[in-house]
Amino acid sequence: MTDYAEAIPMYVDRSRVFIDANNPKWIVIHKTAGFHTAQEVANYFATNAEMTSTHYVVGQDGTVVQCVREQDGAGGNCCLEQGHAAFLPEGINLNLVTISIEHVDPALDNSTPLTDAQKRASFRLIADICARHGIPARHGDANGGIIGHFELDPISRARCPGNYPWNELWAFLEQGGFMLDITATRGYFTDLGNNVWRCTKTGYVVGHGILDFYRRYGGDALYGLTYLGLPLSNETAVTGYQGVVFQRFERGVVCWDPGHQVDNPPGSGPAYLMHLDRGPGQDPRIATLQQQVTTLQQQVNTLKQEVDTLKQELDAQELGSSPSAKPVS
Ligand SMILES: [Zn+2]
Repeated sequence: MTDYAEAIPMYVDRSRVFIDANNPKWIVIHKTAGFHTAQEVANYFATNAEMTSTHYVVGQDGTVVQCVREQDGAGGNCCLEQGHAAFLPEGINLNLVTISIEHVDPALDNSTPLTDAQKRASFRLIADICARHGIPARHGDANGGIIGHFELDPISRARCPGNYPWNELWAFLEQGGFMLDITATRGYFTDLGNNVWRCTKTGYVVGHGILDFYRRYGGDALYGLTYLGLPLSNETAVTGYQGVVFQRFERGVVCWDPGHQVDNPPGSGPAYLMHLDRGPGQDPRIATLQQQVTTLQQQVNTLKQEVDTLKQELDAQELGSSPSAKPVS
């Protein structure tokens, strides 16, 4: 078992940690300045003489290894140096109020940018820890939050965590997850401002709540552009429902319905995918086809009745000409 569901356990011996003593308030971000894999770092934590460790190590391939339980204090954030962030309390063991995360960087000056996989893994791990421990999901202050090792030790650890992408982390946490960036749409969209994009190919605009849904849909690496395709309409009001609109895309229909008046798929937010087999989300061409089928069925029935009538008339005539029948007077 790991505290973070996606982590691989490689725990250091419990003689190397502060057992059941951690009451985390801050997350401390580190980079390894050496090493090539998360497992390599975990092995180092298990055996080094100084009892150095962090709770997690995030590899360049996105692997997350857990080395210390979150309820225990790790050994990476021991001592404050002169010039440390003013909000950090002196005179206590900071390992008992922090959860620490290492990021593998082979460069001794921590100058290697995080890989995409590493960045995703790191951001998701941080968001998960914040949510589970009630740690403020923003830059740390006296109330807690996320900080860099250099804020504890500005002299000896000035380059830890080096070029960690702080601004991207803050944007990720503010947005509540990863979102499709306009620059990643490969020219299919232009940004009109005010949270509205226009599709350069179909000309339709996607905005506000539906755009937020579109930019998040699929999470992580794949978004609405991948799953829903391009817009095939603008927002269209759903008749009979105040403030509810839907929008057609190549591969799905999105409804903006914060009050869940039209539908309430389990776990859905204010926007969700609509039923395609019925209701306003159904392609209007299907209704036309269904109407045509009904008309044709009626025509078939009418023709069948005419055929039956003709048959009865023919039978009656044959009966009349039969020798065994009584002659018609
Ligand atoms: Zn560090």
